Amino acid sequence: EQDGGKLSEAGLELLTGGRELAGKLDTRLGAILLGSNVEALGKTLIAHGADEVFLADAEILAVYATLPYAKVVSAVIEQEAPEIVLFGATLLGRDLAPRVASRLRTGLTADCTALKIGNYTDPKTKQEHTNLLYQIRPAFGGNIIATIVTPNHRPQMATVREGVMRLGEPDESRTGIITNVDVSLDGRDNVVEIIERVKAEKAVNLKGAPVIVTGGAGVGSKAGFELLRELAGLLGGEVGATRAAVDLGFIGHDHQVGQTGTTVRPRLYIACGVSGAIQHQAGMAESSKIIAINTDPKAPIFQIAHYGIVGDMFEVVPMMIEAYRSKE
Ligand code: FAD
Repeated sequence: EQDGGKLSEAGLELLTGGRELAGKLDTRLGAILLGSNVEALGKTLIAHGADEVFLADAEILAVYATLPYAKVVSAVIEQEAPEIVLFGATLLGRDLAPRVASRLRTGLTADCTALKIGNYTDPKTKQEHTNLLYQIRPAFGGNIIATIVTPNHRPQMATVREGVMRLGEPDESRTGIITNVDVSLDGRDNVVEIIERVKAEKAVNLKGAPVIVTGGAGVGSKAGFELLRELAGLLGGEVGATRAAVDLGFIGHDHQVGQTGTTVRPRLYIACGVSGAIQHQAGMAESSKIIAINTDPKAPIFQIAHYGIVGDMFEVVPMMIEAYRSKE
């Protein structure tokens, strides 16, 4: 996935995850690249793990539009007949993947949190299927983790949210091939005319932040978040929030961490007044170090925290700020 000649991290992360899957299946990893004048990006895709890049380069593909993209991607898949196709669960991927799946008459599991290769025996027919894609994701409001398989249709398709897979280091010495895809689209393939594009840049870069200071419902108010902003600023980090804090109007949704927010894995995650619900943990449990501050010693966040402080965050956070300040 690219926009204006810039590759999205979601796509590059899929190449890291895809390489592992391809390794397990002892097969090749391809990438489909669509756009206008984007050939140079093919090399980056190869450096990130693609063996072959299917390049659809045409003026009509310069800006994403559902119908032309779906047609081109479906045609490549029909021709190459891959076992597995992955999309980033980005705005673009969420629009495109279901279109492609329905064109190809196959299934699609959205927002997977893990992908693995495994076997499956159909409980009714007793038919054994080997090397299927386990499409793993929370279901029923996060109360269960479901493993979904597509035994009878191909390709097996899934979307994966940005940040769920690790972004691997590019290896510039990798070699691969770039294959041009024939783009034969006419007016009927694009019934939407884009008159203007207005892009709102994200004000918060949670994913790239080395330190995140997150507040939950326990912060109590919009003003309470100012304290967390001070600590985050001091540590060169960003402010995160739970869904409860967002729903209570303490802070904007851009800051939400979790299953329906951003998935993060910073070096340091400080959770203040956060209970640690499973849906919140889904977005931050991979953080390198977690410090939790909560008045309730039984709060689930303490089960995954490396350092737990049982106390009132309005007493503890000012002490942390003072301690860091004194070291400046
Ligand atoms: P609470 O659970 O109310 O916890 C507040 C905590 O603050 C308590 O543990 C309390 O002891 C502590 N506290 C209170 N006062 C203080 C104080 N002065 N000092 C220190 N501690 C104090 N949630 C997310 O976060 N992200 C998501 O993406 C997300 N997606 C969801 C998706 C679905 C489908 C569903 C059903 C839910 C989702 N949720 C998500 C909501 C999630 O289930 C929880 O409701 C939410 O995470 C709770 O937020 P909280 O920890 O801020 O609030």
